[in-house]
Amino acid sequence: MTHIPGVNSQKIFNETIEYIPGGVNSPVRSFKSIGITPPVFKSAKGSIMTDVDGNQYIDFCASWGVFMAGHANDEIEAGVIERIKLGTSFGAPTHEETLLAQKIIAMVPTLEMVRFVSSGTEAVMSALRLARAFTGRPYILKFDGCYHGHVDYLLASAGSGVAETEHGSSPGVPTDFTKYTLSIPFNRKDLVEKVFESHGSLIAAVIVEPVPANMGVVFPDKGFLQFLRGITSKFGSLLVFDEVITGFRVAPGGAQQLFNITPDLTTLGKIIGGGFPAGAFGGSKEIMSLLAPVGNVYQAGTLSGNPVAMTAGLRTLEILQRSYFYEELFEKAQRFYSELNQIIQPYPVSLATCGSMFTLFFRNNKPGNFSEVHECAMDKFAAFYRFMLQNGVYLSPSQYEASFITGAHTNSQLDKVLDVIRRGLGHVFPH
Ligand SMILES: *Cc1c(COP(=O)(O)O)cnc(C)c1O
Repeated sequence: MTHIPGVNSQKIFNETIEYIPGGVNSPVRSFKSIGITPPVFKSAKGSIMTDVDGNQYIDFCASWGVFMAGHANDEIEAGVIERIKLGTSFGAPTHEETLLAQKIIAMVPTLEMVRFVSSGTEAVMSALRLARAFTGRPYILKFDGCYHGHVDYLLASAGSGVAETEHGSSPGVPTDFTKYTLSIPFNRKDLVEKVFESHGSLIAAVIVEPVPANMGVVFPDKGFLQFLRGITSKFGSLLVFDEVITGFRVAPGGAQQLFNITPDLTTLGKIIGGGFPAGAFGGSKEIMSLLAPVGNVYQAGTLSGNPVAMTAGLRTLEILQRSYFYEELFEKAQRFYSELNQIIQPYPVSLATCGSMFTLFFRNNKPGNFSEVHECAMDKFAAFYRFMLQNGVYLSPSQYEASFITGAHTNSQLDKVLDVIRRGLGHVFPH
């Protein structure tokens, strides 16, 4: 067993704290709920990440779900290097945008048009502006524990890093800014009905992570997403699927394909940048045509559709489209989950999964909503996490996050991880 973080990581992190708040550029990276400072990373290949002390980890964070084929994939790397030599940004049209748009539209059948941005936050912000413009209505209905980026008015009962704050919100957001945001528990048809009865004609959109992954993986109850489709159509509101994590992750066409539902707008991110900053939002031609310069809904970005990011995304989707990519990944994941379910049996721990993403919850039963996630034994999770890290396994560092299996993980690595989990649980729950 090694001591994590090592001396070099600690030295660099302590220095960074002087210059960058908390030493990080995104709060969950700080390991605040884990009770140690994080390792600082140097390199990664496939499923292995290496820190500045030379410690190696089997990685299940995959840059928060960005990687499907593992780190520094040879084909993506080659494509990116070739593209960089031709110039990295033009602020003008490049062919890579066309190619990636075509590819995304071919894979996600409900999309007719997309626009690229540089992050998931921007994708959501822009999609909701469009939804409000299209409907001429102000209200947005969201679900507690779903995370849709750090947009002011969506920081209300939000998941991911915000889940670790007091009200799932943030100072600096005036109350007036969230007055058109309604947030209710996930999986509660009755509450959705109630909100539509009182506000129905004023609701521009219902936004949902179709399989929430930012409060850990929470599965929608049977019929819940279908119900959202029905009630939004009935009231003339738009249904927005935030597929920034689930897009290309839970199925080639995302959760909308898995559940066979047509949302009005879809947001994408993470996977589509292939490890570079990129996001996208899309829907029907009718709605997307409201965007400037065709329509007058303003939306723009200096680096939007950046050709290096587009190339990385394109190469990624080409890999995903190969025969058996998903079959093999899901088969590997299922094998891992079924072993894991045996291992956790004696413990107050549950396993929630969807495709290649999973969360081990320190609670007897899988949570169905945010308040049930809050009931998890966070101290036990933190102790388990530290054990895993010290034994070379890097899970996503919060109970409110999902971990990811990629095409780069091998069955023998997964077996090794199962063994570490077995020992980790024994360590956290001594007889
Ligand atoms: C990560 C995420 C976002 C925000 O994307 P960023 O690129 O971090 O801005 C939005 N929605 C969901 C569902 C996400 O998982």
